Amino acid sequence: MIYLKDEAIVLQTVQVGDKDLSITVYLKNLGKENIYIKGGQIIKNPFLPVVQEFNWFKAVLIKYKEKIFIKEIDKSYNLAVKISQNLDSYFTASKILENFDKYTTFPDKKIFNLMKKTFYFLPHAKNTDLFYTAFLVKYIYLQGIFPSFGRCIKCNTKIYQQNFGCFFIKNRGSLCKNCCKSKKTEFTYQDIVFISRLFKTKYSKLTNLKLNHKNLKFLNQKLNNYLKSNFL
Ligand SMILES: [Zn+2]
Repeated sequence: MIYLKDEAIVLQTVQVGDKDLSITVYLKNLGKENIYIKGGQIIKNPFLPVVQEFNWFKAVLIKYKEKIFIKEIDKSYNLAVKISQNLDSYFTASKILENFDKYTTFPDKKIFNLMKKTFYFLPHAKNTDLFYTAFLVKYIYLQGIFPSFGRCIKCNTKIYQQNFGCFFIKNRGSLCKNCCKSKKTEFTYQDIVFISRLFKTKYSKLTNLKLNHKNLKFLNQKLNNYLKSNFL
């Protein structure tokens, strides 16, 4: 039997029979794990309010025969209630979890911290589409697959407005006017500037960004495709 201290984000809570719960968590040190909570559905169970989707907690865990159990919860932050109070933020949180679940395969402390911040700031977001785009950009960066925006992927020339040729997702980077063979582009120069700005902007400062709403839906879809294409 091993005791370990770790931080967790609850990804899913499933009822087992009438009394027990099985939760899936992302642990800061161990990554994705299942935890079985005997009697977890019983109202008096002290873990019940803590182990809801999107919540963060810090706990002493027991590892026994490759299974993980909670010994005690030291600290917790209830985001489930805050996120679920507003439909927009709930749907956004679900989309974020879906992406995270699909593409996060290893333990990664930086991705853990991003998820913790993401669910913490989401209930305060004024524009959930913008918030979602910001998440995608930050997540793509931490996955190590951030596209090369600033330099031409063929000749390495620095890209600025005048010499920008095109950007296609399949290329994973910009091409300068000399190297781009196409008259079309998937992202405009303005899109690229916007994405770079989003990357640098903290969640708490997002409202300061100027944006075009139509563009946001388009960018979300493209960034989702970008993520997908890197994991095929
Ligand atoms: Zn070039």
